[in-house]
Amino acid sequence: MTKKIVVVAGGGGFIGGHLVRKLLDLGNCHVRAVDIKPLEDWYQVSPAAENFAGPADGDARDFRVCRTVCRGASDVYQLAADMGGMGFIENNKALCMLSVLTNTHMLLAAQEAGVKRFFFSSSACVYNAEKQVNADVTALAEADAYPALPEDGYGWEKLFSERMCRHFREDFGIQTRIARFHNVYGPNGTWRGGREKAPAAVCRKVIAAKASGDHSIEIWGDGTQTRSFMYIDDCVEGIGKIIDSQIYEPINLGSSELVTINQLVDIAEEIAGIKLKRHYKLDAPRGVAGRNSDNTKIRSYLNWEPSISLRQGIAATYRWIEEEFRKECDPADAKSLATSGFSHGSKPIPGDGYNAESKHMDTWRQGIPVGYGAAG
Ligand code: NAD
Repeated sequence: MTKKIVVVAGGGGFIGGHLVRKLLDLGNCHVRAVDIKPLEDWYQVSPAAENFAGPADGDARDFRVCRTVCRGASDVYQLAADMGGMGFIENNKALCMLSVLTNTHMLLAAQEAGVKRFFFSSSACVYNAEKQVNADVTALAEADAYPALPEDGYGWEKLFSERMCRHFREDFGIQTRIARFHNVYGPNGTWRGGREKAPAAVCRKVIAAKASGDHSIEIWGDGTQTRSFMYIDDCVEGIGKIIDSQIYEPINLGSSELVTINQLVDIAEEIAGIKLKRHYKLDAPRGVAGRNSDNTKIRSYLNWEPSISLRQGIAATYRWIEEEFRKECDPADAKSLATSGFSHGSKPIPGDGYNAESKHMDTWRQGIPVGYGAAG
């Protein structure tokens, strides 16, 4: 019997790499992994998969690439996106919005190829920012995405693409499924370079502080901002359950274990067996004040929710980053890895919504709550 063909777009990335491995382990499908990065930059390369890598063969913004990879496919997992942690998405809004090309072309090619099921990875960044202004949060339920006031740039793109999935299902019959991921972390993901998210950044900073002998740590914001973090194994299991389900509406896929960033640092310090002096960088991007995942809906649909504890997941992540650090970093560089940088993907131009010139204009401030992004 010939195996069904399954496409993982973003297969060279963190979640995509784990998903490709899991699908191959299941053994019932032929996997096509697609990523714009050259193969040597993929977090995990599975030789048993058919790998489409690099700008010529793996750029899913290019409709021809999407058509090639979707041909004959049964399932598509669309995870490809130009994204990163707060330091990246707050400073690269145009780049984040360009993922609309990837989502549109993958969906169109999948529909044209008669793909049976299409999974779209949305994000908790679609939620209305005004519902996230307190660290003492009420967990976000799916209905809290409307009225729409998502994270500027990245969140707007995800919300638009969610609706496109819905309309493709309603109008063309392609079976789309949408999960709103809440902060995913684990081994084999970004841990340095400016796109890393809080759990990896915190582990790296603690490891670097230990290695350099300078026992201090820089924390973005005042450390009181709250979040929940989902370990990668829960994420991959949830993706499988959601694509197999009849859940037509966007659904939260996240942990509901809420912690402050200070508590996240406590856990990493405990694993490292060290106590560090904390310096708070109040002008760094810090995102919303508080965010948690309301899992009522996923529990009622699937009788399941992510359950791996943060302590357990961070221990595994810390060990992996420590290993990478040992392989890649000269102890003399340890001090520079104790901080995080963030940069623009392109030169800001006047009127782009980030530039100081447009910041004071009423219309550009719409959708940005007072104090958003600022600490304290
Ligand atoms: P990642 O950056 O590790 O993986 C995304 C991959 O997409 C990267 O390898 C990148 O090279 C690839 N990519 C970007 N543009 C592409 C293009 N034009 N063509 C082909 N590939 C392209 O990120 P991740 O954490 O694995 O995230 C996967 C998906 O989950 C993304 O859509 C992201 O928005 C979503 N998500 C992730 C999180 C999280 O906490 N990690 C939270 C919410 C949503």
